[in-house]
Amino acid sequence: MRDLAALARVSAELGANRLLVQAAGGNTSVKADGVLWVKASGRWLAKAVDEPIFAALDLPRLTDAMAAGDPACETCDAFVRADLSASGLRPSVETTLHAGLPQRFVLHVHCVETISNAVLEDGASRVAPLLDGLKWAWVPYTRPGFPLFQTITPGADIYVFANHGLVVAADTLEAAVALLATVGRRLARPLQTAPTRSARGVERAGYRLADAPALTSHGAKFAAAGTLYPDHLVFLGSGAAHIDSVVGTPPVILAPGCPPLVREDLAPAPLALAQCLGDVAARLAPNDRPRYLTAQQEYELTHWDAEKYRLTLPD
Ligand SMILES: [Zn+2]
Repeated sequence: MRDLAALARVSAELGANRLLVQAAGGNTSVKADGVLWVKASGRWLAKAVDEPIFAALDLPRLTDAMAAGDPACETCDAFVRADLSASGLRPSVETTLHAGLPQRFVLHVHCVETISNAVLEDGASRVAPLLDGLKWAWVPYTRPGFPLFQTITPGADIYVFANHGLVVAADTLEAAVALLATVGRRLARPLQTAPTRSARGVERAGYRLADAPALTSHGAKFAAAGTLYPDHLVFLGSGAAHIDSVVGTPPVILAPGCPPLVREDLAPAPLALAQCLGDVAARLAPNDRPRYLTAQQEYELTHWDAEKYRLTLPD
């Protein structure tokens, strides 16, 4: 199918850009002939050309079930077209979002420029003038999956998910990619200048510096203070510690003046999320007021079967 091949190529490009996608985060889809092709859970967009990462679902059955509020829409496993899908693929946790938007192509990314606005208390009012003239909507934080889809009113081309990321939708792939570029450009925030500091002062056995910008003092503080978006919690837990309050050997240590220190044994997925934390923190300004996920919101994520499944997959 030509559209699917084109989507795979674009998905691989998105997946290779760490300012858009980190590890198995993000997902893309196309609708064709009553079938929704959507990225499978836990698969990496970066590998879209090299291996089958798209699951096929029966779109009419799925949308009927969504309209009825069928609990089967939580995993969407029941709507997979086994005759079309490679075996072992489970649909993305965001499948209902892809099914419910009317546009043919839907791209969901964890765009760092978007996130660096979307994690702020006043994110909606900051983003509004920047996206003026586009058909966009702000979506307050809701646990990803069916609950997130249920908070959305179809009708926009762009959705900014608070404390999460970005969705763009269009009837052609070219238009969707163009929207992604436009939003990324308009929401771009300048990199804050960090004080220079000799890395020798923060050297620790078993750690190395991540490939990320140096942290400012406020950036290090903000990044260590809580969970800013779901994949941080899923892959790093509460394991990003400020250098002044390190207990044990957390996966990430945040010290002003140098990039995040990452434990040398980190697997590719947590490493990508550690870099992402550095990329986001580098864009936060001293007067920003970040909004963190509440304890209840963290509990929902860590006790959600779909996320436990994602963690069991190899990188
Ligand atoms: Zn997401």
